[in-house]
Amino acid sequence: MTTQNVQAATMCPFCGILAGAEPGTVIARNDEKRFAIIKSIHPESVVHWLAIPFEHKESTEAFEGEHASRFIELFEWTIAQTKQLVADEPHLERGFTLKTHFGSFETIPHPKIHILAVE
Ligand SMILES: [Zn+2]
Repeated sequence: MTTQNVQAATMCPFCGILAGAEPGTVIARNDEKRFAIIKSIHPESVVHWLAIPFEHKESTEAFEGEHASRFIELFEWTIAQTKQLVADEPHLERGFTLKTHFGSFETIPHPKIHILAVE
């Protein structure tokens, strides 16, 4: 990583949560695959989680552009993990929505897939 990347990662709230340096709720974490699901700080639904890779990148689009296979792996992991978590989260019993943003503003500049309850 360049010095600039290290500084960006240090200031990133999601990287802070993954490092245990900032408060946040980790729903699921896989240290081998280096993916996690955390609770959104600004929920748009009764369930609003974010699936994130451990590696910092300034946007989801940049992450997909440079690591397309990692992005697909994250998507597949997110689906499998969320299905497993349905048993503990009644709001997901009716299904869930996955969404991600390309080329648009991201409040937290770190790659992510949104997991939302269907309302
Ligand atoms: Zn980050």
